[in-house]
Amino acid sequence: VIEERGINMFRGADFLTSAVTEQTPFTLEQATPDQRALALQARSFLHEELTPRTEQIERGEPGLMRKLLRQASERSLLSAIIPAQYGGLGAGLKTHALLSLQLGPAHSFFVTWVVQTGLGALPIIHFGSDALKATYLPGMATGEVIGAFAVTEAEAGSDIMATTTQATCTPDRRHYLINGAKKWISNAGLADVLLVLAKVDGKQFTFFAIDAQSPGVSTMPEEQKMGLRGTFHRPLSFENSKVPTENMVWNAGMGIQIAQSALVVGRLSLALGCASASQGILAHAIHHVRTRRSFGKTLSSFGLTQQKLADLVADIYAAESVALRGVGLVDEYLSNLEQQGKTDNADRHTALVACTIEASIAKVLGSEVCNRVADESLQLFGGLGYIAGHPAEMAYRNLRPARIYEGTNEINRLVIASMLLRRDLPPLFPYLPALEADLAQGHFSTPLAPAALIDAVAGLERVKRAAFYVLLKVVTRRIKTLEHEQQILGYIADVVLYLYAIDSSLARALSIGDSTQIPLHALAAKYVMWRYLAPVRLAIEALLYCALNGDELNTARSQVYNFVGTYPADVIQQQRDLSALALERGGYPYALFLEASMR
Ligand SMILES: Cc1cc2nc3c(=O)[nH]c(=O)nc-3n(C[C@H](O)[C@H](O)[C@H](O)COP(=O)(O)OP(=O)(O)OC[C@H]3O[C@@H](n4cnc5c(N)ncnc54)[C@H](O)[C@@H]3O)c2cc1C
Repeated sequence: VIEERGINMFRGADFLTSAVTEQTPFTLEQATPDQRALALQARSFLHEELTPRTEQIERGEPGLMRKLLRQASERSLLSAIIPAQYGGLGAGLKTHALLSLQLGPAHSFFVTWVVQTGLGALPIIHFGSDALKATYLPGMATGEVIGAFAVTEAEAGSDIMATTTQATCTPDRRHYLINGAKKWISNAGLADVLLVLAKVDGKQFTFFAIDAQSPGVSTMPEEQKMGLRGTFHRPLSFENSKVPTENMVWNAGMGIQIAQSALVVGRLSLALGCASASQGILAHAIHHVRTRRSFGKTLSSFGLTQQKLADLVADIYAAESVALRGVGLVDEYLSNLEQQGKTDNADRHTALVACTIEASIAKVLGSEVCNRVADESLQLFGGLGYIAGHPAEMAYRNLRPARIYEGTNEINRLVIASMLLRRDLPPLFPYLPALEADLAQGHFSTPLAPAALIDAVAGLERVKRAAFYVLLKVVTRRIKTLEHEQQILGYIADVVLYLYAIDSSLARALSIGDSTQIPLHALAAKYVMWRYLAPVRLAIEALLYCALNGDELNTARSQVYNFVGTYPADVIQQQRDLSALALERGGYPYALFLEASMR
C-alpha cells in the first residue's frame, strides 16, 4: 500500500504479496437493496423496451435511440454517477456498475448508454468547472443532452500522442478555434456535446466540451460497420469551430490526465457490459441445448456441451469478479477523497489512475471472455447460429470490437506491464533474496480458509509466490531493455492478469457470508483457478527462459515447479457440476437476477 497526495492506495501488484484470504473486494453479493432495486429497473427496461426492439435498434431506426435514452432516464438509468446537485442520483460508481451488468445484452444501446453515462460525461463530472457541470449534466441525466468522447484520429489511434487536432486561442482570449478531424466516434451522429481532445498551441493536450451544433463542426456519413450498427458511429470534422474559453475542461495541458482518468472508469464499465452481454448470449445457448435434440438426446446431455458451458460460466465469473473488484477500489479512493474534503482535480486524477492496472486487466479479460462466449455459444447453435439476425450471430459481430476500443487489448497489456515495471515492482526488489530462499527451501504456510476452498487457496498462494519471484527475477535482470521487449511485457501482463482473475474469483467465494452458498461459489472459483493456471504456467516458463540460462535456469525451473506443485482437481466432475447448475438455473447461475425468474 502506498500513500500519494494523502490517499492510501494499493499498487496493482500488491495482491501478489498479500494472501487472498486477506482481501475484501466489492462483489455482486454485497449489492445493497437500493442498488438491487435500480439494477432491477435496468433489467426490466432491457426486457420490456430494448429486447423487443432489437431489430430496429440494430438498424439505427431514426429517432429511436434518443427516445430510448429518454425512457431510460425516466427510470433513473442515466444519472447514477451524476451528483445530486446537477440532477443526478449521486449514487456512486458501484450502482453504475450494477447497471452496466444488466444492460450489456442490448449491444448497440449498451454502447450508446455507456458512452452517455461514462466517457461522454466523466471528464465533466470529475474535472469540469461548476459552470460546465451546470450547463451539461442536468441534460445528460434526463437524456436531453447526449455526449460523445472524441479522441481517435486517422493517424492517432493507439498512439494518442500523435493527435493533431489544434486549438488556437483567439486574439481577444475569449474563444479557441478548433481545427482537425476525429474518426470512429461512438454517438457522434446523435451527440449534443462532444468531449474533444485537441492540442493548444501545438503542444498542450486539452479537452474541450464542444456543442455539436456550433458552426464549423460537421458530422460525416455513418461508418458501415461489421456490427454495432445502431451506435451512430461517425467521423467528425472541425473547421475553425469557435469554442468559448470556459468550455476548456480543467486546464490546458491536462488532456492526457483526463483521458487516463476517464478510461479507468470507462474500461471497468465496458468490462461489466461484456460480462453482462456474455450472460445474455449464454442464456440463449442454454435454452437451446436444453431443447435441441441430436442422436435422440438433448445437446445438454453431451459431455462436450457440459464442458463448454462450464468454461463459459467460469469465464464470466472471473470477468465479473475482477471488474467489480476494480470498481470497489475506485469507489473507495473517491469516497476517501470526499471524506477528507479533497476537491482538487489533481487528487481525483491520482485516485483514478491508481486503478489503471485493475481497469486494464478488467477490460482485457472482459472483452476476451465475451468474444469466447459469443464464439462458443454460436457453436452450440450449430448452423442456426450462423444465420444473419440470430442472437448468436449478432453477439459474435457486436462484441468483436470490445477488444479494439478503449485501448486495444495489446495496448492494455502493455499498460499493465509498463506500470508494473515503472511504478509497482521496483519498490519490491528487496523481497527477492527472501523469495529465493523460500523457493529453495520450499518454505510456505497455508493461510486459513473454509474446507471447500483450502486446496485452491494454498495452490494459488504458492503460484503467486513463485510468480512474484519470476517477475522480480526477470525485471531485475532485464530492466534496461525491458521497456522495448514487447513479448516479455506481454507475458508479464498475462501472469498478473490471470493470477488477478483467480485471486478475485477466490476472494469473492471467500467473502460469501451465507455458508450454504459457499460450495456453489467455490465450484466456479476453483474451476476458474484450474482454467487460468494454464496460461500463467506458460507465461512463467517463457519468462524464466528469457531471464536465465544454463544451470541457473535449470535450478530456477525445478525450484519453481517443485514449489508450485500440482493442483489437484477433479476437473471433469467440476464441469458436470457447474454445467448442471447453469442448466438448472436457465443461465449464468451467479447473476443478480436469474434468467429463469425474468421470463
Ligand atoms: C466500434 C468502435 C467504437 C469506437 N468508439 C470510439 C469513440 O467513441 N471515441 C474514440 O475516440 N475512439 C473510438 N474508437 C476508436 C478506437 O479507440 C481505436 O480504434 C483504437 O484505439 C485503436 O486505434 P486504431 O484503430 O487506430 O488501431 P492502431 O492503433 O492502428 O492499431 C492497429 C493494431 O496494432 C496494434 N498496435 C498499435 N500500436 C501498438 C504498439 N505500440 N505495440 C503493439 N501493438 C500495437 C493494435 O493493438 C492493433 O492490433 C472506436 C472504435 C471502434 C471499432
